[in-house]
Amino acid sequence: MPTALTLNDDLTLNVPTDPIIPFIEGDGIGIDIWPAAQAVFDAAVEKCFDGKNKVNWLQVAAGEKSFNDTGEWLPDATIEAFKKYLVGIKGPLTTPVGGGIRSLNVAIRQILDLYVCLRPVKYFNGVPSPVNNPQDVDMVIFRENTEDIYAGLEVEFNTSESAQLIEYLHDQFGWEIRADSGIGIKPVSETGSKRLIRAALKFAVDRNRRNVSLVHKGNIQKYTEGAFMRWGYDLVRDEFSDTCISWEDCGGDPGGKILVQDMIADNAFQQTLLRPGDYDVLATCNLNGDYLSDALAAQVGGIGIAPGGNINYVTGHGVFEATHGTAPKYAGQNKVNPGSVILSGVLMFEHLGWFDVASMIISSLEKTIEDKIVTYDFARAMEGATEVSTSDFAKAMIDRM
Ligand code: NAP
Repeated sequence: MPTALTLNDDLTLNVPTDPIIPFIEGDGIGIDIWPAAQAVFDAAVEKCFDGKNKVNWLQVAAGEKSFNDTGEWLPDATIEAFKKYLVGIKGPLTTPVGGGIRSLNVAIRQILDLYVCLRPVKYFNGVPSPVNNPQDVDMVIFRENTEDIYAGLEVEFNTSESAQLIEYLHDQFGWEIRADSGIGIKPVSETGSKRLIRAALKFAVDRNRRNVSLVHKGNIQKYTEGAFMRWGYDLVRDEFSDTCISWEDCGGDPGGKILVQDMIADNAFQQTLLRPGDYDVLATCNLNGDYLSDALAAQVGGIGIAPGGNINYVTGHGVFEATHGTAPKYAGQNKVNPGSVILSGVLMFEHLGWFDVASMIISSLEKTIEDKIVTYDFARAMEGATEVSTSDFAKAMIDRM
């Protein structure tokens, strides 16, 4: 009998042998990449558990396809399924143009309060890269997912709302803001920052990582990004002192503990490009994390292969997703790279604690790329590559498990 995941009292997941996992195929190239990814997932689970475990995939609707069929971009039943079954996975979704939901991805994150955006950035041998030593890149970004300038608290220029706000800020704070300004509010809370940084520190401890960098722009934005850094250091002292130590408490010599340091965001872009091997787990506010995730992904093959997960470690909810869009010009051509959604599945299996399944998928992906069997996006940047379709890439991976 297929069963739902449940959350234990210690906030770990109780995973049955036959979990029900909801998935959204996705719009555009979702039709190409999802079946390929599902074949890879099923083969790895079957091989790792000798057929004793099986994922029961439950298709749920969202996006353009859902809108055309039901008139709803994000049906309640889909959210209820993600709530009930705790963990799910999705392909890319078309963003509705004009009115209603600003972005379906943001809506799912907000409704389920998925406060961590997890973006690992790791090099796989043979992937075309624009940098000299991509093999040094192995970082994991924890991006805050609910606050910052992304909270959606904005007013348009030349409206009564912006005029009221400008007047209020002038009267109450003496702030001078040009009359024709649009205004956005950037909330960064102690609660939001600490739960994000706590997840990053716990990940570093559980996965034996070397260091955690708090990336911020606190030299300019002192009470938001600067506070994010200070709350991070407080957390190290208050909750992680047996396993982690801050730079200021050890002068750079952590003595066997995990070193927690901080980096100004602009410098972080330079350092992680020039000396990626020095950096490991990165914790950031929302906007910096958005930029940094794609910039680092470019070092190791770009968005065709970059995975992502949105997680609430307190409720156990997680929605894992391809980080690229729907690439409509390629939809239905069986052409694009399924790597992003496949590696998002790897994150999902790690979240479930099925680490052998995750490792098998990663090593089969590595072997396939090392054998120069790749989709068009990598083939155009690799010499001597054999270009294959989306489904044949998945078959080649399964052959190498
Ligand atoms: P996009 O769909 O990510 O496509 C941009 C380009 O990235 C493609 O033309 C292609 O490059 C490359 N690409 C994307 N996915 C690939 C894959 N699997 N394999 C190989 N190459 C891939 O971005 P967009 O055109 O800006 O957005 C299209 C739609 O997607 C919009 O409606 C947008 O709102 C939505 N979107 C959704 C998500 C999401 O659901 N997570 C994220 C971003 C955008 P080449 O042309 O060079 O081959």
